[in-house]
Amino acid sequence: MAQSIPAKSSGAEIICHDPATGEEIGRAPLFMPEEVARAVGRARDAQPAWAAKSYRERGRVIMAAREVILKELEEIAFLISLETGKPVAEAISLEMTPVLDLMQHFARKTANLLAPRRIGLGQYWFMGRSSYEIYKPRGVIGIISPWNFPLATPLGDVVMSLMAGNAAVLKPSELTPLTGLKIQEVLTRAGLPDAVLQVVTGDGSTGAALVAAGTDKIMFTGSVATGKRVAEAAAKYLIPVVLELGGKDPMVVLDDANIQNAARGAVWGAFANCGQACSSVERCYVHESIAELFIAEVVKETQRLRQGNGTEKAIDIGSMSSERQLRVVERHVNQAVDHDAEVLTGGERLRDVAGAFYPPTVLTNVNHDMDVMREETFGPVLPIMTFRTEDEAVRLANDSQFGLAASVWTNSIARGQRVAWRIDAGTVMINEVLYSHGIAQTPWGGVKQSGLGRTHGRAGLLELVNAQHIHVNRLPFIPDLWWFNYSEDASQLFRGFARRFSSGSILQTGLLLPQMIRRWRERQRN
Ligand code: NAD
Repeated sequence: MAQSIPAKSSGAEIICHDPATGEEIGRAPLFMPEEVARAVGRARDAQPAWAAKSYRERGRVIMAAREVILKELEEIAFLISLETGKPVAEAISLEMTPVLDLMQHFARKTANLLAPRRIGLGQYWFMGRSSYEIYKPRGVIGIISPWNFPLATPLGDVVMSLMAGNAAVLKPSELTPLTGLKIQEVLTRAGLPDAVLQVVTGDGSTGAALVAAGTDKIMFTGSVATGKRVAEAAAKYLIPVVLELGGKDPMVVLDDANIQNAARGAVWGAFANCGQACSSVERCYVHESIAELFIAEVVKETQRLRQGNGTEKAIDIGSMSSERQLRVVERHVNQAVDHDAEVLTGGERLRDVAGAFYPPTVLTNVNHDMDVMREETFGPVLPIMTFRTEDEAVRLANDSQFGLAASVWTNSIARGQRVAWRIDAGTVMINEVLYSHGIAQTPWGGVKQSGLGRTHGRAGLLELVNAQHIHVNRLPFIPDLWWFNYSEDASQLFRGFARRFSSGSILQTGLLLPQMIRRWRERQRN
């Protein structure tokens, strides 16, 4: 299914390949820096009219786009599969379903989530003061995306940006520009006004040009190394950034876990999307008392998985999305094996096929000196270690430069929560893996090297607006007691404020009443 997209005036193109076969599947323009700057300029011109529309009107466009996607569900899922190598079924379950849900959620709920909020003022209320916050669009949002969820990740950011009243310029990954262009097409067909969203396809240089083009915020999703480069470049222009970066997500299986379900969860969490999810299970720690049974179950489940071309039917795992990522997987597994890791299944790329196929691989006898336990592998590898105590499990889980997501498995929800609270990560799931990125209502983002800021949920929307504080004095005819002049009486009163008003207690402040009246009379006289 070759797609032909007209080249830009510069004529430069990205050639897209199916990673499962190596065949060319289409071409996309490679936008030059001056074209990116022009796109940002057009977005800036178009944004005020879009921001002037009501939430309801904006929501109607998003819901219309949702209908376009639903009508073309099969074609779009096929395109995603073709560009990434993932099974069509997985494109529908892991990408399209969550992003369709996200669209309806933000189309309907943004008005409420961004409604003006009153702020409690404590004792200032007795002085006739009130405060509230309103949320104004930032302007133009630059969105830079990776290839692993080429529809859901960028479209989620686009929808939230647009619903908040911004215009957006999206730079999709160079590995998946065709899905990126599909996002543009879908929103154009839904009636989004011209230039409110523009997709600029290209490589890292196009992304760098978007950062340099002076947007009002950058929403970046990708690797730690590129995220740092983006943050550095954005700092030059004081552009705020959200960085959704890598992970090395631990899964902790406590001794009272349901072994079979935990094993199934581990296999799905590690191998869905061929292990190329930021919240894939990348390390598993199982209590030594159940390790043997758990590992046997994991291996059995893994060996049942059917690997093949993602566009074929009844496939569980497709190819990896790129040779480059496959080489990272090979390096991690080979280094672990050189240091005595045991391969229970998988462990070597499939050599009798043309594409980037690496089989689901389970390793034991691993330790934290190995890259496979320290660096992001981002491939179908599940290394398993054992632990003796809860404390040891928490220490191992936290012994990482990353902190994106984690999971704890136990039949005791109270115990699970106790352990979850001790793990350093943006999200900890109890008896679940991987999928909470797909819940539009909940915040997503990491700590440590996994990034800055949040997407999804109200926290994600707040990244896309400027919060403006409005403060009101309902007694405009009374001068404040702390204004000039600083007489001796005044300075005594200020000392009283420091001791009593600042205690937050209205009773304490009440003791200052005689001094306040004296000061007020003094103001009347002068
Ligand atoms: P990447 O960092 O190589 O590329 C990401 C994007 O940045 C691409 O569009 C790329 O063209 C662009 N880019 C490259 N150089 C740039 C520069 N100098 N300035 C601006 N943009 C530039 O990452 P990738 O290989 O596409 O994606 C995989 C990574 O993404 C993994 O580390 C994964 O964990 C992470 N990821 C994180 C999340 C999350 O929510 N935390 C979600 C998905 C993926």
